Amino acid sequence: MGSSALEGSESHDPLARRLTVLSGPSGVGKSTVVAEIRRSHPQVWLSVSVTTRPPRPGETHGVQYFFVDDAGFDRLVDEGRLLEWAEFAGNRYGTPRRPVEERLARGEPVLLEIDLQGARQVRRSMPDARLVFLAPPSWDELVRRLTGRGTEPPEVIERRLDAARVELAAEKEFDLTLVNTSVRDVCDELLALMAVQ
Ligand code: 5GP
Repeated sequence: MGSSALEGSESHDPLARRLTVLSGPSGVGKSTVVAEIRRSHPQVWLSVSVTTRPPRPGETHGVQYFFVDDAGFDRLVDEGRLLEWAEFAGNRYGTPRRPVEERLARGEPVLLEIDLQGARQVRRSMPDARLVFLAPPSWDELVRRLTGRGTEPPEVIERRLDAARVELAAEKEFDLTLVNTSVRDVCDELLALMAVQ
């Protein structure tokens, strides 16, 4: 029926519509949301990022992150094996490219939990990806969460609050906002967006 390969913009990739990016300030609860989806819907594949940050207590290599040293991260960047990467609060974080592209090519949903700089890179390279901003119920609540984690020294918390101020202002760049008043509600909305039963 005359549907042309060039219909719409050439840069648009229908496969990328299955890519959902969850971003938002540090401490807003992104990793809690992702952990809850992992628990309640183990069939949903979640991208595991590479980071130079040391593991926190309870974190396992290959589950929350692949933990690498600086030289290992440099190599991944040089070899073009990261879909996006960013430096955040003194450490580097990146999304391994191949597993994401393989799943999108099969038409499977993919969820990335990344920082704002990474979300912007995905926006540029995959304009059809859906960018979701996770917002805190209030600034005071965000400060409380960042301070209450108790795993980071004060200067690290201060850097994260600085980053959070910048990140909150970026909400308007996103396709939609979910307010993290209830982890379960946010998960349900994300799963619905990803068309996961
Ligand atoms: P955390 O150290 O608290 O686990 O993560 C710090 C920040 O890095 C969070 O905002 C998290 O979303 C972000 N992050 C985690 N993985 C990636 C990634 O692969 N790429 C980018 N750009 N950011 C990431």
